[in-house]
Amino acid sequence: MPVSICHLNEGHAAFAAIERARFFKEKNKVDFWDALWATRAGNVFTTHTPIAAAFDTFSLELLSKYGQRYANSLGIDGDELLALGRENPNNGQEPFNMAYLAARLCARINGVSQLHGEVSRRLFQPLYPCWPVQEVPVTHITNGVHVPSWDSPHADRIWTENCGKKRWLGTEESLCDAIMQLSDQDIWQFKGNARADLVAYVRGRLARHLGQRGEDGESIQVAKSVLDSNVLTLGFARRFTEYKRPNLLLHDAEKLARLLNDSEKPVQLIIAGKAHPDDRLGKRYIKQWADFIHRDNVRQHAVFLEDYDIGVAQELVQGVDVWINTPRRPWEACGTSGMKVLVNGGINLSELDGWWAEVYEPELGWALGDGQEHSEPEWDTTTAQQLYRLLEEELIPEFYRRDEAGLPRQWIQRMRLSMAKLAPHFSSNRMLREYVEKLYIPAQRDYKNRAESGAECAKALVRWQARIHIYWQNIHWGNLRVVQLGELTQFEVQLYLADISPQDVQIHLFADAPDDKQQPLLVEMQRGDSIAGSSNGFMYTTSLKINRPVDHFTPRVVAYHTDAKVPAESNLINWWSGERQLSDELAL
Ligand SMILES: *Cc1c(COP(=O)(O)O)cnc(C)c1O
Repeated sequence: MPVSICHLNEGHAAFAAIERARFFKEKNKVDFWDALWATRAGNVFTTHTPIAAAFDTFSLELLSKYGQRYANSLGIDGDELLALGRENPNNGQEPFNMAYLAARLCARINGVSQLHGEVSRRLFQPLYPCWPVQEVPVTHITNGVHVPSWDSPHADRIWTENCGKKRWLGTEESLCDAIMQLSDQDIWQFKGNARADLVAYVRGRLARHLGQRGEDGESIQVAKSVLDSNVLTLGFARRFTEYKRPNLLLHDAEKLARLLNDSEKPVQLIIAGKAHPDDRLGKRYIKQWADFIHRDNVRQHAVFLEDYDIGVAQELVQGVDVWINTPRRPWEACGTSGMKVLVNGGINLSELDGWWAEVYEPELGWALGDGQEHSEPEWDTTTAQQLYRLLEEELIPEFYRRDEAGLPRQWIQRMRLSMAKLAPHFSSNRMLREYVEKLYIPAQRDYKNRAESGAECAKALVRWQARIHIYWQNIHWGNLRVVQLGELTQFEVQLYLADISPQDVQIHLFADAPDDKQQPLLVEMQRGDSIAGSSNGFMYTTSLKINRPVDHFTPRVVAYHTDAKVPAESNLINWWSGERQLSDELAL
């Protein structure tokens, strides 16, 4: 089967792209680099971690052992192969980094949420030396969940009645309106049913586990009466690992116990999680929860479910009222468990990290943190206090504020908005459609263009790359003159390209973004007269209206080819430096 798109999830898979190039090389009788340039256009790399330390790296000794023979089989030099996995291809001491390898083998790279896209641009910036971080070629597509796998039978019924059976098969925009029409009674009824199911599930599971462990009949009887189907139910379930801060809720255990025991406005808590066997801290968090839950005044109101897996997750996300998530920003990358409660009318109370950071609004749920990154240890205390305050002053009162009919109108409205505005958007059909439209279709088009007619285009790109690479260091700049022409400011710079053809480069005038919210300014400068006596020396000019000091603007030259992706496939860049010559009115 001919492959047009190869999608790598995480760097681990990067050798698949090398094998793809090998296959292409053999089939089309071209050399490895032609094959790589052809196939790279059809490769997509999704990175999933927000920390550089999580990128897989291998020592040089290990790679040299296998790398040479492998490289020979591809028809390239061992060091050429190793260079693909290094930050600096010329540094023979660097370990081999699988994420870097993937980035070099794929013309398109994406992170898994907007914030993770930003973080990933920083992580991959070393591969594009001297490029502004905003131009590091990493975009983002926010994850979504396969909604039919996570909705409760009660939610399924209400969504089917209002949005039809095929609601998760097409586009999702129209779903919002239908959900906004749901009555308060219907919403509160389906949630009540789902909460009661969850309580029954937890009791049964707990009793079964205790029985298997040989606990006495009394404990098993107690297990059968834990929790209450009419009580505000908080859920927290995930891998127990440091950055998720699974013990944040326990920061002030007395306070938490008081909230659970409030006789008028009680709260109950269902916790589930697993720690990696080698993660001692993770296991300590579990112990902390186990100790807490065994307190006499807590036992009835809080439960820890062992063996967290997809089955447990399904039950939890269907029945809880609130899903709590406390990662340390920006370590979450995206997070998906909070998306699973949306269809079920669950509300998120989460750190502003991953997906939640891109959609949080006060009417939809609650936010932890201040939307910034913090490394100071006291910050965890601040966040824990914020968590208790939100519970005490906002969530609990809103849940128990009932009208004559016994309905919490404000809470229900929040459920309705969260279901209508968020559930369709964080579904996997939206995600898949974005992959298809933003990445797969353009990648397929580019791949076909490069591969057809015996990979003619790919071969031309290889020659282009070789040409500019050899001569790049000979590029040098002359004067930059800035002249005010009425409203416009004209920038005129001399550039000596020597052996590089002006067709192979593009000259930009660049001004950094004034703040993080805005994008840098980038205008292409036009080639004007050639400079007498020079070889490929030209004047480049542009005129624009500016509202910032002229020294914010700097010309630069980058590699250019209509079919190449820059800087993803060629990171050459050279910035003008020198003294600006200002005309009289600008100098004043
Ligand atoms: C959804 C899910 C996850 C991912 O949850 P996050 O909160 O995004 O880390 C992990 N494990 C199970 C069993 C899940 O269902």
